[in-house]
Amino acid sequence: MTPDTDVLIVGGGPTGLLMAHFLGLRGFRAIVVEKQPQPYDLPRAVHFDGEVMRILQAARLAGRVRPQTLIGKGMLFQDAGGNTLVDWSRARKIGATGWHESYRFHQPTLEKNMRNGLRRFGRVVYRQGVGVTGLSDTGGNVIARLSDGSALTARFAVAADGAQSSCRELLGIDLIDLGFEERWLVIDVRLKRPRPDLGDYSIQHCDANAPATYVRSTGNRRRWEMRLPADRTGDHVSDDEVWAGLARWITPKDAELERAVIYTFRSRLAETWQRGRIFLAGDAAHQMPPFMGQGMCAGMRDVANLEWKLALVLAGGDPSLLQSYETERAANARAFIDLSVRLGRLINQTAAGAVPAGRMKSIWPALGPGLGRPGAGVGEQVPQALQRGPDGVVRSDDISPNGFYLMARDDTACGIPVWRGAEDWLKARGLSAVLVRPDGHGLLAIPEGAAIIPALRPFVPMITTLPDRASQQV
Ligand SMILES: Cc1cc2nc3c(=O)[nH]c(=O)nc-3n(C[C@H](O)[C@H](O)[C@H](O)COP(=O)(O)OP(=O)(O)OC[C@H]3O[C@@H](n4cnc5c(N)ncnc54)[C@H](O)[C@@H]3O)c2cc1C
Repeated sequence: MTPDTDVLIVGGGPTGLLMAHFLGLRGFRAIVVEKQPQPYDLPRAVHFDGEVMRILQAARLAGRVRPQTLIGKGMLFQDAGGNTLVDWSRARKIGATGWHESYRFHQPTLEKNMRNGLRRFGRVVYRQGVGVTGLSDTGGNVIARLSDGSALTARFAVAADGAQSSCRELLGIDLIDLGFEERWLVIDVRLKRPRPDLGDYSIQHCDANAPATYVRSTGNRRRWEMRLPADRTGDHVSDDEVWAGLARWITPKDAELERAVIYTFRSRLAETWQRGRIFLAGDAAHQMPPFMGQGMCAGMRDVANLEWKLALVLAGGDPSLLQSYETERAANARAFIDLSVRLGRLINQTAAGAVPAGRMKSIWPALGPGLGRPGAGVGEQVPQALQRGPDGVVRSDDISPNGFYLMARDDTACGIPVWRGAEDWLKARGLSAVLVRPDGHGLLAIPEGAAIIPALRPFVPMITTLPDRASQQV
């Protein structure tokens, strides 16, 4: 029996929507089901990094998203006296991802862009107000029961249904608790008058008695987050409590409240990310406190890793390829969870020296073991190179229709797209070239002096089987 769709995507948050775009671009059928009757219109994430903009570029969404972002200046960690403990400034120029290091954005606007962008695909269906209530892998297919009483079959399913993932529960997958749990009040406001003195940096107020975060969002939006005392119970927040908390920065004369919500920040990792034909992605697979602004970023990295592997298997490739999704991604997500927790300890001032004082640099952890022979360049993010031409900037990832290309120090003819660039990065690793995967990571490293064409040969079936990302930028 032909399944109803190629991939069922559970959850219409950023993770699920991104997966739908990649599948649509490569010409596959996908159905996204989102259980909430209306889109969630309040911001959670406010920051994403250059790698995520690179992923949005691959999904042909960067053109739509970039104008609605603000380039982030960075984050300062200050003690109760206002002295800077850690300076995590971001460079003002384009970096190794081919984009700036940090962007501020408005999550509901991004999600709206992503939902609207799905209209370009004839084979992708988005169903609002329909939830998954049952999910199983029959061996050959996935079968899902939906909240409207119907059933749906798919070749694969991606459970991107968030931190409370019902799919994870239906599959009996436990979460590993990595030890961080704190209740924080998150307040979003819209300024009524300019307050340039608040600044463009995010500030982490590191104070054992009153740890707090200030975030410069897009437009006139600003956010404060405050840790709640351990004895503060209940979820109701009164306006008086909010303004009392904000009093050291703003008053009702300066701003109007958009919302105030209590969140429990946690650090957790699903014990496994795959059950047969069903994959967990995004918050369903991992959760971290938001001190680095990396939760959504990690979900988008999951999708970038999984989408081309799923597409290859849907196009007839070896299904064992899919096993590398969890091994590669879990290690990378864990690195962000661990650093977010260490920064949380610094903000709470519970662990002196949790992070060395001074300047902090962004981390770009390599993937865990998976595809390719381990070695320098393999599983690392390969820099994206740029060239300015008469028609504007050309980025190296865009030269390849399906995402595979060779980044090389010299011109070479090898039957796949080649970009001459990233010389310093290649040289530092003793390489003449690297085969770049569709998610921007190295798959094959070619040492200086080694012949390129024979080294590439085992990868040719993979490169030629993967369908192109055929749609245009929106
Ligand atoms: C205060 C705060 C600040 C944050 N700041 C940042 C930041 O600056 N940068 C960053 O990268 N991340 C940040 N995050 C994290 C980020 O918001 C999340 O990681 C991200 O939204 C997760 O996306 P997702 O698509 O995986 O899950 P979600 O956004 O939770 O989406 C899951 C969707 O699945 C739907 N769903 C659930 N169950 C079902 C079902 N059974 N059937 C159908 N649909 C279902 C839900 O309704 C929901 O719409 C922050 C989080 C918080 C709370």
